[in-house]
Amino acid sequence: MYRTHTNGELRASHIGQEVTLSGWVQKTRNKGFMVWVDLRDRYGITQLIFDEERTPKEMMEQAVHLGREFVIQVKGTVIERESKNSNMATGEIEILVSEVTILNKSLTPPFTIEDETDGGEDLRMKYRYLDIRRNPVRENLIFRHKVSMAVRNYLSAEGFVDVETPYLIKSTPEGARDFVVPSRMNEGQFYALPQSPQTFKQLLMVGGLDKYFQIVKCFRDEDLRADRQPEFTQIDCEMAFIEQEDILNMFEGLTRHLLKEINGVEIGEFPRMQYDDAMAKYGNDKPDIRFGMEFGELNAVTQHKDFGVFNNAELVVGIAVHGGNNYTRKEIDNLIDWVRRPQVGALGMVYCRCNEDGTFKSSVDKFYDQEDLAKWAEVTGAKAGDLICVLSGDTNKVRAQLSALRMELAERLGLRNPKEFAPLWVIDFPLLELDEETGHYHAMHHPFTSPKPGQIEMLDTNPGEVKANAYDLVLNGNEIGGGSIRIHDKETQAIMLKHLGFSDEEAKAQFGFLMDAFEYGAPPHGGLAFGLDRLVSILGGQETIRDFIAFPKNNRGRDVMIDAPAPLDQEQLTELNLKLDLPLK
Ligand code: ASP
Repeated sequence: MYRTHTNGELRASHIGQEVTLSGWVQKTRNKGFMVWVDLRDRYGITQLIFDEERTPKEMMEQAVHLGREFVIQVKGTVIERESKNSNMATGEIEILVSEVTILNKSLTPPFTIEDETDGGEDLRMKYRYLDIRRNPVRENLIFRHKVSMAVRNYLSAEGFVDVETPYLIKSTPEGARDFVVPSRMNEGQFYALPQSPQTFKQLLMVGGLDKYFQIVKCFRDEDLRADRQPEFTQIDCEMAFIEQEDILNMFEGLTRHLLKEINGVEIGEFPRMQYDDAMAKYGNDKPDIRFGMEFGELNAVTQHKDFGVFNNAELVVGIAVHGGNNYTRKEIDNLIDWVRRPQVGALGMVYCRCNEDGTFKSSVDKFYDQEDLAKWAEVTGAKAGDLICVLSGDTNKVRAQLSALRMELAERLGLRNPKEFAPLWVIDFPLLELDEETGHYHAMHHPFTSPKPGQIEMLDTNPGEVKANAYDLVLNGNEIGGGSIRIHDKETQAIMLKHLGFSDEEAKAQFGFLMDAFEYGAPPHGGLAFGLDRLVSILGGQETIRDFIAFPKNNRGRDVMIDAPAPLDQEQLTELNLKLDLPLK
């Protein structure tokens, strides 16, 4: 038996007992006549003691030579500790060791296995198994386990069936590039890894399974912007014989359950916001509503005043920064520089101070008098003591820029409290999105999303205006889930694919299996998927999803521990009928 107890278990009530413990040497302290060793495992740390008077000489020697991260087993007696440590669960006792066995030695680890480690990110990723020995990483993984168990239990109790769907499939368009896998047995042909199990879960509904879920890996070959992973996990769900309302209620229930179970937070009904309103009020389809700073559109109160910049702008829009009148000129200049950074891309920023005495002082006083500025304050909701920041230009761009500024200011003002949770549904998304570069429309959610009833004819006349039965669940400024009511008849699916630029042949080749299935009694159905990595990191009050993934990839999509991706040897390439034609570097 390797152990009678774990290293987090022994208390004063165990004093006098003979025990066996196993674990890693966290550290040793050698006073010559006494040696202490901290023995660590997943459950905690227990202090071992060796002393000249009670420990045989050879064992003292052995204790002195135990290195960091050696794996040892000890037998001994639980004794009362002289100087107790109330910060440690096992701080009342220590083990007077009578036998030590080294189970395995360790090289000196490349970084300290402590909460605050000296190891940089790259080094910790290379030795991720050592990183996982650290409390914060291990606790995150256990936290993730708790969240996924709570999800499974809830959905199972609601009648959802966990079904596995294949990984070697054909492309499912979720808006990214596919990862592909060459087929040895089918020369010159490739599988695609699923960007999501979308079509399979729909087929499960055609198959009559009624309620499906799966905690599943999805693969998307996209440029890895901050905090994205090429493989990530979804809680993927689908239901039949439902309307949008049923889905919203079901998954609001799940989210509420998680917040209560995991965070002990009770949240009432989630607000719902139209996509168009979210864009107009927050410039963003995933608004963080933990704080106000809603947009105020100023076109009506700024135009016809000789200020060309505003007169020529499609949108003039501002936000009120609470207490911002205190900003020094330098701080305001700094904000202007911030919005002009290429990542944000504004040309400039107009501002207006709302003085305590009710007067205004703006950067465009030449064009606007006190009466005009009072209107700005009214529209943006600014009070005495605030600062109004105004951007102008092309609607979509300006909204994105002001949204970035709003988030930045909220961060600086400490308004993004990770312990506060503000979920909401954003509903009625557009069905299609115009790709500015190609001039083509593509599906905003995916091609299987149904248009709002009665709007399908508008696809011919006004495609950009068609709304979808599509919804996102947003939490603290992050999209944590999204889904839609699906098309469930062949004809509508064909019309949709045609509008997305598929020829009949292409549609048949790529989605024939789904359209065929729709001809055999497909029930009305819909669903959604949560991004589990992101959900867990938000519930865990942290920023990066990588911290909650056991073996994450870096921002170039590499696993630096196993050193992947890697070249194939010639034999394997030949077997797969692959010939490399790499560009000369
Ligand atoms: N498959 C969709 C996605 O990955 C989710 C859904 O529509 O259910 O975003």
